[in-house]
Amino acid sequence: MYDVIIVGAGPSGTTAALYASRLGLNAILLDKSTFPRDKICGDALSGKTVRVLRDLNLLESVKGLEGATIERITFGSPGNQQFDVQLKGSEQNDYITEGYVIPRKVFDNFLFQRASEVTETRQGFNVKDLIKDGDNVAGVEGVNSDGQLEQIEAPIIMGADGPNSIVSRKMDLYEMDMKNTAVALRCYYKGVEGLTNQIELHYLEEVNPGYFWLFPAGNGTANIGIGLSKDEAKKKDRNLRDILDQVINSDRFKGRFKNAEAMEKPVGWNLPLGRIKRANHGNGYMLLGDAAGLVDPFTGEGIGNAMVSGMYASRVASKAIKLNNYKDDIFEEYDSLLWNELGGELRTSSKLADLARHSFLLNFVINRAVRNKGVRDIISGMLSQEISKDDLSRPSFYFKILFS
Ligand SMILES: Cc1cc2nc3c(=O)[nH]c(=O)nc-3n(C[C@H](O)[C@H](O)[C@H](O)COP(=O)(O)OP(=O)(O)OC[C@H]3O[C@@H](n4cnc5c(N)ncnc54)[C@H](O)[C@@H]3O)c2cc1C
Repeated sequence: MYDVIIVGAGPSGTTAALYASRLGLNAILLDKSTFPRDKICGDALSGKTVRVLRDLNLLESVKGLEGATIERITFGSPGNQQFDVQLKGSEQNDYITEGYVIPRKVFDNFLFQRASEVTETRQGFNVKDLIKDGDNVAGVEGVNSDGQLEQIEAPIIMGADGPNSIVSRKMDLYEMDMKNTAVALRCYYKGVEGLTNQIELHYLEEVNPGYFWLFPAGNGTANIGIGLSKDEAKKKDRNLRDILDQVINSDRFKGRFKNAEAMEKPVGWNLPLGRIKRANHGNGYMLLGDAAGLVDPFTGEGIGNAMVSGMYASRVASKAIKLNNYKDDIFEEYDSLLWNELGGELRTSSKLADLARHSFLLNFVINRAVRNKGVRDIISGMLSQEISKDDLSRPSFYFKILFS
């Protein structure tokens, strides 16, 4: 009998396993895949991810993994202007000075191996159903790596199983919500020119509302892609692959791709955006990361929020075990901890995503930033969290940059 079953060994599940071990819980971590496995992603690790990794004493090891170190962000406007900001801040006050792009095949495998050192793990275990004990979820049933149907029991189940979460489905919480979901396409390339220590986000007309990203991924490779809201993607008469092709072959980018070679066919996946507060717990279970819909609506980042959810889920699980209480109300605290930390930022990002639908605003901000160091400093301050990101969604911000 385990204390906790963690379904899914992405960043949310492995983080939960690592904290569960710290808290002395007897957890088992299940994943239907076998590691190392790919995960469609931009692979960018920024502030919150760095903070959790540091807390887990894993940051120095992660810095040594295959990938790229990021010191700058380039923003491009629909009107073909672009500017760079440095990631600043200092380690002392917990702000990040650099970020990383590490292929998820490498990063997730690293986390999985660290989790395996302290937690029982089962790869190739595909959870198909939940076991109930009265009103409570009390275990999972799945097909194991030998193809056998197997049941595992525990009083707490963590659904860390991505946007199509089986735990969420079985508890009737899953909903394909077009308005609050984005769809993104990723493709690894080699030979893209002009990539050094910067990630690039280009807000182009073709991908509005969304952006084209161009990230160095180490060893001369690049992770490139486009993301846009699912309802908009549906409306367009072209498919995402055509849009990506069009961007790569546009006058603006074709020079940088003239010697480049795609290493795969573009692959797509959904991002459940944290624009709305979804139900994330019930009798005997909690939902984590993408299963709880925690992706930042403006930046498309979900790894950091997933890891934060793993940290809080284990903290609350430990309390539930001590109290021997697995009813819904005990897991309320998970919801509070999570939304106290992420709620404000997700709300701001939703507003920013709405503003970014207006190309003229993007052009205005980016054009001012190209010309004016003061504006670049304001944006840099926001990225390093020295200035509240909330300011970006207020009219006063636009006056400030107009007169700076
Ligand atoms: C194209 C794209 C680009 C992105 N770029 C970025 C980026 O640059 N930076 C960033 O921070 N975020 C990015 N994201 C978001 C990020 O990928 C997710 O938010 C993050 O992976 C969520 O982690 P997770 O652990 O919740 O879920 P996942 O990483 O999806 O892990 C879920 C795990 O559950 C397992 N699983 C699923 N079902 C079952 C089952 N039935 N039984 C057992 N196991 C199961 C899966 O095999 C998987 O290993 C991007 C997403 C997309 C689609």
